[in-house]
Amino acid sequence: MFDDIFAAAGKKREDYIDFVPCHPFYRIFDHNNRYFDYNDNEEFTLGQIEKWNADDREGYVRFLNTTKAIFAKGFTELADKPFLKFTDMLKVAPDLIRLQSYLSVYQYVSKYVKDDFLRRCFSFHPLLVGGNPFDTTSIYAMIHYLEREWGVHYAMGGTGAIVKALTNLIEEMGGKIHLNAEVDEILAEKGRVKGIRMADGSLHFSDAVLSNSDVAYTYRSLIDKKYRKKYTNRKIERMKYSMSLFVIYFGTKKRYLDSELKHHNIILGERYKGLLTDIFDKKVLAEDFSLYLHMPTITDPTIAPEGHESFYVLSPVPHLGADIDWTKMAKPYRDRIMQFLEDNYLPDLQANIVAEHYIDPLHFQNTLNSYMGSAFSVQPLLTQSAWFRPHNRSEDFANLYFVGAGTHPGAGLPGVLSSSVIAENLISEDFPL
Ligand SMILES: Cc1cc2nc3c(=O)[nH]c(=O)nc-3n(C[C@H](O)[C@H](O)[C@H](O)COP(=O)(O)OP(=O)(O)OC[C@H]3O[C@@H](n4cnc5c(N)ncnc54)[C@H](O)[C@@H]3O)c2cc1C
Repeated sequence: MFDDIFAAAGKKREDYIDFVPCHPFYRIFDHNNRYFDYNDNEEFTLGQIEKWNADDREGYVRFLNTTKAIFAKGFTELADKPFLKFTDMLKVAPDLIRLQSYLSVYQYVSKYVKDDFLRRCFSFHPLLVGGNPFDTTSIYAMIHYLEREWGVHYAMGGTGAIVKALTNLIEEMGGKIHLNAEVDEILAEKGRVKGIRMADGSLHFSDAVLSNSDVAYTYRSLIDKKYRKKYTNRKIERMKYSMSLFVIYFGTKKRYLDSELKHHNIILGERYKGLLTDIFDKKVLAEDFSLYLHMPTITDPTIAPEGHESFYVLSPVPHLGADIDWTKMAKPYRDRIMQFLEDNYLPDLQANIVAEHYIDPLHFQNTLNSYMGSAFSVQPLLTQSAWFRPHNRSEDFANLYFVGAGTHPGAGLPGVLSSSVIAENLISEDFPL
């Protein structure tokens, strides 16, 4: 998809940024520090499955074959199509039923895989786009197939290198990027928008407005409520939002290449469903946690000074609908996570930290303007997907368009890039040259 963006500009992505494949895709640890690796090599993954439960070998192959059909429908065919009319939804309904989209990802995986830990390994994917595996539609089982089809890659230099590559491309094409420029209001009238007002008071008028800030925030905080008929504050408040994240970025003056860690590590706690219920439904901050630990210096040592290691660790936590005072809880929560990592994975960690920064749900709300401090915007439930999700062309304003996590198809870079293809096509249709 990144290649397509550069190709559309007559350029080659390779001239701007390097993507390197990660092997394994993930190393997934259970609560006893035993691990499972997988990648796109079927024999390798089957060998790993045999170590856990040889009986699941055949079930996994069947699971994989069915996710291929889900991927073909859910991603290849539909992810870059707009769902603007209810009839668009009706047209795909028979396929969605045939593909058993009424099951959750966890239920779907469990039909094929029996081992409790392997079920977790093949069902965690909705968490990457803000969903609970126990109530995200099984259509999202396609993420497992998507990874196999295209691989799991790291952008050399980190995500910032992607931003830099796109910045260079946009500027070469004559585009202008205004940094530290906050939009305070989208100027609306009945059924249309006219432009934007910036925090410095300047006004910019335009034929159309395309917003990539969080959809819920855009409607609620940037557009006068008297013009909103469908996305009223009440509707926005009633929608369900993805979980938030607590993320600690840190660097150590020691390398940890002799540890069992890989580039992408998922460290699962003993509880799976119970922990997810605490995060998504009960909205309490549990004593235990499951973590994702990123160690990019394994692949790209240049992003840290020589002899140093770079990490981030994230823990999914409830969004701000929970009764948690992060101004008080952030530091003790950070301490618990770091102590756990030191005790189990990174010996002498705290004595070796030379740089550290952490963010909590308040950062997502106050700095990134994500409603409820959610990390992935509108939760990817079946009842909030496709036509049911905020549309890429606003239902309230004919010339307001959305890209990003909260609109169709959803969060994560493949989803967000797909939304940009949809928005571009809609704008081209609405404003023919
Ligand atoms: C820790 C973490 C790790 C992730 N890792 C991956 C990964 O490995 N792979 C993957 O595919 N996805 C990953 N994701 C998900 C992915 O990053 C998001 O789904 C994606 O960035 C969402 O894009 P977006 O454009 O909707 O929102 P954002 O990337 O948040 O962009 C919205 C922008 O709008 C700006 N903004 C908000 N309000 C205003 C305003 N009023 N005026 C001007 N600007 C404003 C914000 O500052 C922000 O920069 C990760 C997410 C997190 C939190």
